[in-house]
This record gives sequence, C-alpha cells and structure tokens, in this order.
Amino acid sequence: MNTDPAIIKSHDTKCFLMKAKDGYLLVDTGYVWRQEAFVGQLRKQNVAVREIRHIFLTHYHDDHSGLLNYFVSENPDVRIILHKSGKDLLLIGRNTYDRNACVPTRRCAKSWHVLDLFSNQTGRVPPYAVRETDILQEEDDDALLRELGIDGKIILTPGHSPDSMCILLDNGDLYAGDAAMSSWPALLTGCKYTTIAILDLDMYYDSWQKIIDCGAKVVHPAHGKPFSVKKLEENHRKIKKLWPSPKSRPVRKWRSARAAAKTKKDAERAERRERI
Ligand SMILES: [Zn+2]
Repeated sequence: MNTDPAIIKSHDTKCFLMKAKDGYLLVDTGYVWRQEAFVGQLRKQNVAVREIRHIFLTHYHDDHSGLLNYFVSENPDVRIILHKSGKDLLLIGRNTYDRNACVPTRRCAKSWHVLDLFSNQTGRVPPYAVRETDILQEEDDDALLRELGIDGKIILTPGHSPDSMCILLDNGDLYAGDAAMSSWPALLTGCKYTTIAILDLDMYYDSWQKIIDCGAKVVHPAHGKPFSVKKLEENHRKIKKLWPSPKSRPVRKWRSARAAAKTKKDAERAERRERI
C-alpha cells in the first residue's frame, strides 16, 4: 500500500518522495542551485540523503536533473532510473531547447521571452555520466517499482523531450514530470495543460492518449497543482500547431520575419491598388 508521496520543492519544480520497501524513491532532483533548500526539505521529512536508494528521472532537463551528481556523490549506491535516451542527453549539460523545442501558443512564445529577461535560469546543468548500476528504461515497465515496494508502473511519455517518463500508481495518481502542466505561465498563455515547450506535438498528444487510456485519474505535474485527467481529455489535440520558441529562433530574427511579412503584405496591397 502506498502512502502519499511528500512534495519537495525546487523553485518552480515539484519533486516527489515516495516510501519504498527499502528507504525512498525520489522523483526528480530539481535545480542544482537549490541544493541547500532541497536537502533542508528532506531533513524536515526526517529523511537522510543516504536513505534515498533510487531516483526516478522524468526527463533530463535542468529543473529535474540538477542534483543527480550531488546525490551520487553523497551515496554512490543510489540508482538512477531513466529513459535509455537520457544517457546521452544528460552528458550535454544543458537543455537542448535552442535547437528543437517549440511552444504551444504565440502568446506563450512572447511571455517566454519576457520571462527569460528576468530569469536567472540558464538551462545549464552539471553533466551526469550514467553508471553501470543505473537502470535504463526502454519500454513501459510494470515490474520494477513493485520490486521496490511501490504499487505502480513506469510509462514512457515522450513529446516534451525524447526521454520523458511518468509513474502511474495503482490508485490512479500519475506523477507526470512535464508530460502535462498546470502552472500559471502555461494556463495564462493558453497552453491548455500542455507544457510550455514541446519537441514533437503529435508524440506529445499520443502520450496524453496513453495517459488517458492507462487509467490515470489525477495528474501530479512537476509544475503546477494536481488536476483531473479529464482536463487532458477535454484539451486533447486542441493545440494544433507549434510556434518556434524564442530560444529556437532568436527574437530579432522572429521580429524581422514578422516585419518581412508586413512588407510583403504592403507590397501585395500596393500591387492590387496599381491593378485597379
Ligand atoms: Zn520542467
């Protein structure tokens, strides 16, 4: 029988501490620059760093993987559970938004740029070299968590990143990482429970369908409050196209593209006028 996981906050990211047969399983580790506050919260839960025997990584981004090296240095016996593709991604040492990611709405792209101006988050993270004792997932897994004494399974949910994975407990609670989101920037900018950065929209929605079909009831995102899985059903495929994120396409270029489009419209208008 699972007890409710404790929430460990790392700035805007929520991590979760699950009681296992032997010690604890930690879902994500938050930002590297929040180490002190993170360990302080574990202390408040009366949990020593060494009691964390497994870390489940929802994906490789800096707000989830920041303290992997810290936990390994404090306890070399800790085992990281991650998606196979995370092995190479964790070596890069930063989020790869700048090359690939897009955002769900135009309003989101604009707000992201404004947030970036005031944010001290760089997307950089100490690279982590996966060890032989870590556990690489290639497919959904209904056995591993049960072996650890946690009643639930691992489901792969790519789309936000190639290595995204969730934990679905038997009671229907889904620990989603960034496979869905309910934080205020996402909701205010019309992202409809999608995350504010998506690598592949079709893949992302396929993962939502998988979450809906697998019997999840309540989604616990890494960003924002828990919400009913019905929100995923209601908003499924409502975002139909993605916008380039300010990081994948420099804002100046983006502006000049808009300016070029305006000029083109003006030219067309002038041409029409001439024809009349
Ligand atoms: Zn995140």
